[in-house]
Amino acid sequence: TRNMYTLAGNSHKSLIDSLKERGIIDDEDVYETMLQVDRGKYIKEKPYVDTPVYISHGVTISSPHMHALSLKRLMDVLKPGSRAIDVGSGSGYLTVCMAIRTKVLENKDSFVIGLERVKDVANFSIENIRRDKPELLHLDNFKIIHKNIYQVSEEEKEQLGLFDAIHVGASASELPQILIDLLAENGKLIIPLDEGYTQVLYEITKTNGKIVKDRLFDVCFVTLKKN
Ligand code: SAH
Repeated sequence: TRNMYTLAGNSHKSLIDSLKERGIIDDEDVYETMLQVDRGKYIKEKPYVDTPVYISHGVTISSPHMHALSLKRLMDVLKPGSRAIDVGSGSGYLTVCMAIRTKVLENKDSFVIGLERVKDVANFSIENIRRDKPELLHLDNFKIIHKNIYQVSEEEKEQLGLFDAIHVGASASELPQILIDLLAENGKLIIPLDEGYTQVLYEITKTNGKIVKDRLFDVCFVTLKKN
């Protein structure tokens, strides 16, 4: 039985099952995907508690419920053969969820990139992936790149191509144009944006070249740094 007085789970499965019991995970595909990525491989301290955890350099791994809610929104654009980018990939947790869901190992059309501004954090995520799913690190269609999204050059943008799914794990003061440019037709972008003293998660879609912004709910992320 679960201890009523703490939020501590003692295994990855108990964490994911508790998200399901709470109604946070109500999608079988999100459940299956997150079950395959053991949070204990990505953070040492309290991995199975539904809370963000400090990594280093002012950076945190997001809470499991936040990963679950973002993944749910992206599920329809994350399929075998999809192209996905995780901006501010931090621990690498969500990037690996994207890789699992798009089946990068079997499907060479799938393409998953994690972009991370802090070099130490990018290296930390690579160590995590080496511990959890080392086979990903040998692929051409899976990459963790040390790069600030605001510093992607025109040439690099061309090389990256367009993405069906874009996840941003840090809050921006305004919607960066680069992300609109990287979004494929019928693609979906999930991004927190600053609004006064709070942040709001947005779902942005591109249909017939037109951008539609859908306001979801209040969130709390670290800042998407300009430089
Ligand atoms: N989904 C990640 C979130 C990590 S916190 C996880 O759960 O582990 C957000 C990350 O965004 C931090 O690692 C931070 O270094 C990174 N970041 C902040 N500004 C950035 C920028 N302009 N470009 C790329 N990454 C950025």
